[in-house]
Amino acid sequence: MSDELHTEVPGETGKTGDCASRLLLVRKRIGEACLRVGRDPGEVSLIAVSKTKPVSMIEELYAAGQRLFGENRPQELRDKAAVLPGDILWHMIGHLQKNKIKYVVGTSALIHSVDSYELASAIHEEAAKRNTGPVSVLLEVNVAEEASKFGLHSEETIRLAKKISGLSNIRIQGLMTVAPFVEDPEQNRPVFRELRELSVDIASENIDNVHMSVLSMGMTNDFEVAVEEGASCVRVGTAIFGSRNMQVN
Ligand SMILES: *Cc1c(COP(=O)(O)O)cnc(C)c1O
Repeated sequence: MSDELHTEVPGETGKTGDCASRLLLVRKRIGEACLRVGRDPGEVSLIAVSKTKPVSMIEELYAAGQRLFGENRPQELRDKAAVLPGDILWHMIGHLQKNKIKYVVGTSALIHSVDSYELASAIHEEAAKRNTGPVSVLLEVNVAEEASKFGLHSEETIRLAKKISGLSNIRIQGLMTVAPFVEDPEQNRPVFRELRELSVDIASENIDNVHMSVLSMGMTNDFEVAVEEGASCVRVGTAIFGSRNMQVN
């Protein structure tokens, strides 16, 4: 395993013990956002995004009951999964290159970042080769159409969902988006709303093998707005683990 899994200093105050209390705070904020819009907090999964952070911090959160963790680099996900308890559900949330698929098929509970037929097809083949059974994925949509981001444009998404539905080892479970970095999280409300509307449109097509039960949207900066707009899954790193030294994509 690479050194960086062990060397990074823990959160803002420098005490690892803070992770678990920050986790509780994030859970509380999710609960409050649910209350504001009449949602059941049990409908929202919290993925603790542990990228660049050491195994010791994940262990602390595990001890506090957290089971869903997100990573954005395939090898890092594999390395951490190898040394941590087997009942952790690993979420692959970062851009995936075809040659890295082998690290995450069979290891990840959900791959959030499928944005092409070629990638889906390569995942399908890896699953067949390894006999893992169907792989759950989300289609990543670049709702705000930022040039710097991966993901499909909204209008391509239905077409791709139909095409991928023919791959027997792939189960599309929903949609994911990485919203723009904004000063005021309210600015992302229309982005989240558009993703939800898109998922309703796709669901109404009743495509075989395609479910729209997961809406993965919202990060540290804007997860409460995402929950208000129907997120079923928020991906929160900084608010739980403290800031990251490196920006890794
Ligand atoms: C890093 C990352 C997150 C978490 O970001 P924070 O702002 O630290 O909460 C969520 N989603 C994806 C795809 C990421 O790469």
